Amino acid sequence: MDVAVAGVGIAGAFALRRLKKSLNVVGIDKRKKLGYPVECGEIIPTKKEMKILLPDLDDYSLFDLPRHYESNRTKEVHFILPNGKTFEIDFEFHVVNRDEMIRSIAESSGHELMLETRVEGLKDGKLITSRGEIDAKVIVASDGPNSKMARSLNLPKHEFSPAKQYVMDGIECDDDVVYMYIGRKISPGAYGWIIPKGNGIGNVGIGFRPEYADKGDTIVRALDRFVREYPYSSQFLKKAKVISSIGAVVPVDLPYETAVYSNILFAGDSASMIISHVGGGIPTSMVAGDAAAKVINDYFDGGIDLREYDKLWKKYLYGPLVNAYHLKRMWDRFSDDDDRMSKILSLASNSDMGKILRCRIPWKIKALSVFLPIVERIL
Ligand SMILES: Cc1cc2nc3c(=O)[nH]c(=O)nc-3n(C[C@H](O)[C@H](O)[C@H](O)COP(=O)(O)OP(=O)(O)OC[C@H]3O[C@@H](n4cnc5c(N)ncnc54)[C@H](O)[C@@H]3O)c2cc1C
Repeated sequence: MDVAVAGVGIAGAFALRRLKKSLNVVGIDKRKKLGYPVECGEIIPTKKEMKILLPDLDDYSLFDLPRHYESNRTKEVHFILPNGKTFEIDFEFHVVNRDEMIRSIAESSGHELMLETRVEGLKDGKLITSRGEIDAKVIVASDGPNSKMARSLNLPKHEFSPAKQYVMDGIECDDDVVYMYIGRKISPGAYGWIIPKGNGIGNVGIGFRPEYADKGDTIVRALDRFVREYPYSSQFLKKAKVISSIGAVVPVDLPYETAVYSNILFAGDSASMIISHVGGGIPTSMVAGDAAAKVINDYFDGGIDLREYDKLWKKYLYGPLVNAYHLKRMWDRFSDDDDRMSKILSLASNSDMGKILRCRIPWKIKALSVFLPIVERIL
């Protein structure tokens, strides 16, 4: 093969989409049905938001998402503190049918797909799969957060946040709003979400970092508290029923410094290319998969070195991802105490919270980082 794409989720599908038809390409995935089950809240900022979030992209046409991928479009984010204070932020998201989107993009790429095939690692430069070896000139490692490709190269493991999500039917919230909740009782070290998909269906979930949780608490109990007891969320879920449930992990770390290892290019969660303070990895994985494929196309045209990929993804993603990580680290400093979290974040304005969502660091946060030891003593 010219190219093997190991893992066809978001990054893999967007790599297949961009790889030239003249190349001999195979996309490999362990799943029977690409993208299914959906392990995701399914929100993607609209193109207008992406221009602010990733200001150094050369081309935003990736975010011209066809209408048929969308199940809803939201206009605001409501960010709810443990004391009930709510920030109402103008921010537009597509809520997509992520499985259909991945399938449609991968299948319409025209490249060969090898499903129900596990990538097991590398041996003598060849890709080892459950169906035998594949000899590929270039490999895209897009096998997600628990990357076997990263493991086989002995790359360091990322910090993860476990997450659990229900799809619920009968939700009574505003369809234009994505709700995000912070608070140790319901989502230690992370946040909870209600994402309306339209027609009363929604994705309801939480992140749960055990190091911030009470001893003996579990993610299942915390999600059930969020659904049934927590006043600010359960008010929308009184009549809602669980249709399905998933558990997965989200990287909450910095990306690798380099994503190119000889002929292997890492893209997406496998390299922790994620907006870590909100666990948003769809847009960054789209960009990374697309950028990897552009470099591979040029490489086969005899033009460039595969290491150009490092320059490209860093130009597009690195600054915002580092800001996101910095914000996450700040957040972590207050995540052990809901009162303190409420007091500190009550100092923020809607505009500050809007900047935070867009990976910008407001001056108040910059000042807070400088005076943190004093602030911690006062609060
Ligand atoms: C509960 C939850 C909610 C989330 N909500 C959002 C959200 O609303 N918006 C957002 O932007 N981000 C969200 N994220 C993060 C986002 O889903 C990921 O960052 C994004 O999907 C990463 O894309 P990827 O292509 O790198 O990995 P994935 O989409 O995970 O794709 C990896 C692919 O590799 C395959 N694979 C893995 N291992 C192997 C193997 N050994 N052999 C063969 N195939 C393999 C998998 O089957 C999968 O198809 C959420 C994450 C979780 C867990």
